[in-house]
Amino acid sequence: MVEVRLENIVKRFGETVALKGISLHINHGELFTLLGPSGCGKSTTLRIIAGLDYPTEGKVFFGDQDVTNLSSSDRGAVLVFQNYALWPHMSVFDNVAYGLRIRKLPKEEVEKRVKWALELVKLQGFEDRYPTQLSGGQQQRVAIARALVVEPKLLLLDEPLSNLDAKLRLEMRSEIRRIQRELGITVLYVTHDQEEAMAISDRIAVMNVGTVEQVGTPRGIYEHPKTEFVASFMGKTNVIPAKVTEREGDRVTVEFESFRLEGLTYSGEKDDVVIVIRPERISLHPVEDAITLEGTVDLVEYYGFFVEVIGVFGERRIIARTISTREVSGIRPTQPIKFYIRRDDILVLPKQL
Ligand code: ATP
Repeated sequence: MVEVRLENIVKRFGETVALKGISLHINHGELFTLLGPSGCGKSTTLRIIAGLDYPTEGKVFFGDQDVTNLSSSDRGAVLVFQNYALWPHMSVFDNVAYGLRIRKLPKEEVEKRVKWALELVKLQGFEDRYPTQLSGGQQQRVAIARALVVEPKLLLLDEPLSNLDAKLRLEMRSEIRRIQRELGITVLYVTHDQEEAMAISDRIAVMNVGTVEQVGTPRGIYEHPKTEFVASFMGKTNVIPAKVTEREGDRVTVEFESFRLEGLTYSGEKDDVVIVIRPERISLHPVEDAITLEGTVDLVEYYGFFVEVIGVFGERRIIARTISTREVSGIRPTQPIKFYIRRDDILVLPKQL
């Protein structure tokens, strides 16, 4: 178990600046996720923590120890790759035992530890199989057992579920969480899938082109995004460009199209803003302290456990979501509709994208 600190990490590859000065603090026993779109620098950050690559500037600490210039094998961090990288000519047992044998552990100790690791990932009885005789999910479990058997200080997982089908992904992510909790180890997880990040993490760092935009709990980040990028990356949401037209301290009036929204909260300097409204926070019935938008129904989309009503307000399409199918039973395209949104549920952020 280890605490990891990154101080102002810059990484350049020739002209490309992959990381522009990243600082992070990952606590003991925490499942911490780097989340962001392709190319934002997640894998580079992970490789620098693992000691597979070195920063151009900045420092990496494990606890109080400065490990910036230590080799990978001296750090005690183990990285599990996207493609598992199992040895095809070795049995499951030998794959898992490999790291212990290089450390020259006695035979009985190797057997005991491999048995423990395979039980942990629920693969007892698979010792003699070869990787080609395993499903994707089982190969993934072997890769995790192989990483855990050496009792790493830190487990690094780079998009570990990306090669699995949707159902297995759900199963495996619960498994990873279970194992992490059971062992109390520090895990750093990389994904571009915001739902996966939300489900599995204690905390998330949302990354965008080589910078960290926000760090927080899944709930904190979803409900209180600090930037337009974070708001729009964390799930389907309404992001409406608008202008601040009046201010009184933090109280502002914001306008978009012909709509005027009074009494919103905003402390930024820019008048070019976006209004962020989560679809599930829009009500089709009057609610207290709400603003009302009057428009026309464009579409009603049925998703099974929820329904979305897409309204048009001027030129702007806004999505409302409800889990009450009864609430929308009479709603048809082209009809007039009113969306009610509590002022507390409307976020005003500086325009960024
Ligand atoms: P993905 O989700 O696609 O794996 P990522 O967020 O992990 O993306 P990185 O692989 O860390 O992103 O890459 C960050 C940036 O650095 C990209 O612009 C990438 O092209 C660049 N980059 C990464 N490795 C190298 C390298 N060895 N040489 C040159 N550029 C690199």
